[in-house]
Amino acid sequence: MKAASKTENMQPARYAELKGILEEQRREILSEVQGKMRDVRAEGASGEAQGVLDAAEASEADIQDDIEFALIQMKAETLAKIGEALSRLEEGTFGYCFECGDEISERRLRALPFAVRCKDCEEAREVAELRERQTARRSGGYLLDMN
Ligand SMILES: [Zn+2]
Repeated sequence: MKAASKTENMQPARYAELKGILEEQRREILSEVQGKMRDVRAEGASGEAQGVLDAAEASEADIQDDIEFALIQMKAETLAKIGEALSRLEEGTFGYCFECGDEISERRLRALPFAVRCKDCEEAREVAELRERQTARRSGGYLLDMN
Protein backbone atom coordinates (compact mmCIF):
# COMPACT_ATOMS: atom_id res chain seq x y z
CA MET A 1 0.00 0.00 0.00
CA LYS A 2 1.44 3.34 -1.00
CA ALA A 3 -0.15 5.99 1.13
CA ALA A 4 0.26 9.58 0.06
CA SER A 5 1.11 10.48 3.63
CA LYS A 6 4.32 8.52 3.68
CA THR A 7 6.42 11.65 3.36
CA GLU A 8 5.05 12.78 6.70
CA ASN A 9 6.42 9.80 8.50
CA MET A 10 9.82 9.22 7.06
CA GLN A 11 11.76 6.55 8.89
CA PRO A 12 13.93 8.26 11.52
CA ALA A 13 16.92 6.19 10.37
CA ARG A 14 16.50 7.36 6.79
CA TYR A 15 16.02 10.94 7.90
CA ALA A 16 19.26 10.75 9.89
CA GLU A 17 21.06 9.11 6.99
CA LEU A 18 19.95 11.73 4.47
CA LYS A 19 20.71 14.55 6.85
CA GLY A 20 24.15 13.03 7.37
CA ILE A 21 24.78 12.91 3.62
CA LEU A 22 23.82 16.56 3.15
CA GLU A 23 25.72 17.82 6.16
CA GLU A 24 28.80 15.89 5.14
CA GLN A 25 28.68 17.51 1.70
CA ARG A 26 28.20 20.91 3.24
CA ARG A 27 31.16 20.42 5.58
CA GLU A 28 33.37 19.31 2.69
CA ILE A 29 32.49 22.29 0.53
CA LEU A 30 32.82 24.74 3.39
CA SER A 31 36.30 23.53 4.24
CA GLU A 32 37.29 23.64 0.55
CA VAL A 33 36.03 27.19 0.19
CA GLN A 34 37.71 28.27 3.41
CA GLY A 35 40.94 26.64 2.22
CA LYS A 36 40.78 28.54 -1.06
CA MET A 37 40.02 31.83 0.62
CA ARG A 38 43.04 31.29 2.84
CA ASP A 39 45.21 30.53 -0.23
CA VAL A 40 44.03 33.63 -2.04
CA ARG A 41 44.69 35.79 1.01
CA ALA A 42 48.09 34.19 1.62
CA GLU A 43 49.13 34.77 -2.00
CA GLY A 44 47.96 38.34 -1.87
CA ALA A 45 49.92 38.97 1.31
CA SER A 46 53.15 37.43 0.00
CA GLY A 47 52.80 39.37 -3.25
CA GLU A 48 52.62 42.60 -1.32
CA ALA A 49 55.57 41.64 0.83
CA GLN A 50 57.71 40.95 -2.24
CA GLY A 51 56.88 44.31 -3.74
CA VAL A 52 55.29 44.72 -7.15
CA LEU A 53 54.64 41.83 -9.54
CA ASP A 54 55.68 42.39 -13.13
CA ALA A 55 52.86 42.74 -15.68
CA ALA A 56 52.92 39.14 -16.90
CA GLU A 57 52.91 37.76 -13.38
CA ALA A 58 50.15 40.11 -12.37
CA SER A 59 47.87 39.13 -15.28
CA GLU A 60 48.56 35.46 -14.61
CA ALA A 61 47.61 36.04 -11.01
CA ASP A 62 44.45 37.80 -12.20
CA ILE A 63 43.43 34.84 -14.34
CA GLN A 64 44.12 32.53 -11.44
CA ASP A 65 42.03 34.75 -9.19
CA ASP A 66 39.18 34.69 -11.72
CA ILE A 67 39.26 30.91 -11.80
CA GLU A 68 39.36 30.73 -8.03
CA PHE A 69 36.50 33.17 -7.83
CA ALA A 70 34.40 31.16 -10.30
CA LEU A 71 35.09 28.01 -8.32
CA ILE A 72 34.15 29.65 -5.05
CA GLN A 73 30.98 31.00 -6.64
CA MET A 74 30.09 27.51 -7.89
CA LYS A 75 30.66 26.11 -4.42
CA ALA A 76 28.49 28.83 -2.95
CA GLU A 77 25.68 27.83 -5.32
CA THR A 78 26.07 24.21 -4.28
CA LEU A 79 25.92 25.30 -0.64
CA ALA A 80 22.66 27.10 -1.35
CA LYS A 81 21.29 23.93 -2.96
CA ILE A 82 22.31 21.90 0.07
CA GLY A 83 20.52 24.42 2.26
CA GLU A 84 17.38 23.99 0.15
CA ALA A 85 17.70 20.22 0.28
CA LEU A 86 18.01 20.35 4.07
CA SER A 87 14.85 22.41 4.39
CA ARG A 88 13.06 20.02 2.01
CA LEU A 89 14.28 17.23 4.26
CA GLU A 90 12.67 18.99 7.24
CA GLU A 91 9.44 19.25 5.26
CA GLY A 92 9.71 15.58 4.40
CA THR A 93 9.85 16.06 0.64
CA PHE A 94 13.54 15.43 0.11
CA GLY A 95 14.70 12.05 -1.16
CA TYR A 96 11.50 11.10 -2.96
CA CYS A 97 11.19 10.68 -6.69
CA PHE A 98 9.55 13.61 -8.41
CA GLU A 99 7.90 11.28 -10.93
CA CYS A 100 6.73 8.19 -9.07
CA GLY A 101 7.02 9.25 -5.43
CA ASP A 102 9.21 6.32 -4.46
CA GLU A 103 12.17 6.73 -2.17
CA ILE A 104 15.38 7.58 -4.00
CA SER A 105 18.03 5.15 -2.78
CA GLU A 106 20.57 6.45 -0.29
CA ARG A 107 23.34 5.22 -2.55
CA ARG A 108 22.04 7.39 -5.38
CA LEU A 109 21.62 10.41 -3.11
CA ARG A 110 25.14 9.98 -1.82
CA ALA A 111 26.45 10.21 -5.39
CA LEU A 112 23.89 12.81 -6.53
CA PRO A 113 22.54 14.68 -3.50
CA PHE A 114 20.22 16.79 -5.65
CA ALA A 115 18.70 13.96 -7.65
CA VAL A 116 14.97 14.53 -7.96
CA ARG A 117 14.14 11.24 -9.67
CA CYS A 118 14.82 7.63 -8.81
CA LYS A 119 17.15 5.68 -11.05
CA ASP A 120 14.31 4.05 -12.99
CA CYS A 121 12.52 7.31 -13.73
CA GLU A 122 15.76 9.06 -14.64
CA GLU A 123 16.61 6.32 -17.10
CA ALA A 124 13.11 6.30 -18.53
CA ARG A 125 13.32 10.06 -18.96
CA GLU A 126 16.67 9.84 -20.73
CA VAL A 127 15.29 7.24 -23.12
CA ALA A 128 12.20 9.36 -23.75
CA GLU A 129 14.31 12.46 -24.38
CA LEU A 130 16.54 10.58 -26.75
CA ARG A 131 13.52 9.27 -28.63
CA GLU A 132 12.03 12.77 -28.76
CA ARG A 133 15.23 14.19 -30.18
CA GLN A 134 15.39 11.45 -32.79
CA THR A 135 11.76 12.00 -33.76
CA ALA A 136 12.31 15.75 -33.98
CA ARG A 137 15.35 15.26 -36.16
CA ARG A 138 13.55 12.81 -38.45
CA SER A 139 10.63 15.13 -39.00
CA GLY A 140 12.97 18.02 -39.68
CA GLY A 141 11.99 20.03 -36.61
CA TYR A 142 8.29 19.91 -37.44
CA LEU A 143 7.47 18.69 -33.94
CA LEU A 144 9.29 21.61 -32.41
CA ASP A 145 7.06 23.99 -34.32
CA MET A 146 3.99 22.21 -32.97
CA ASN A 147 5.01 22.89 -29.38
ZN1 LIG B 1 10.71 7.28 -9.80
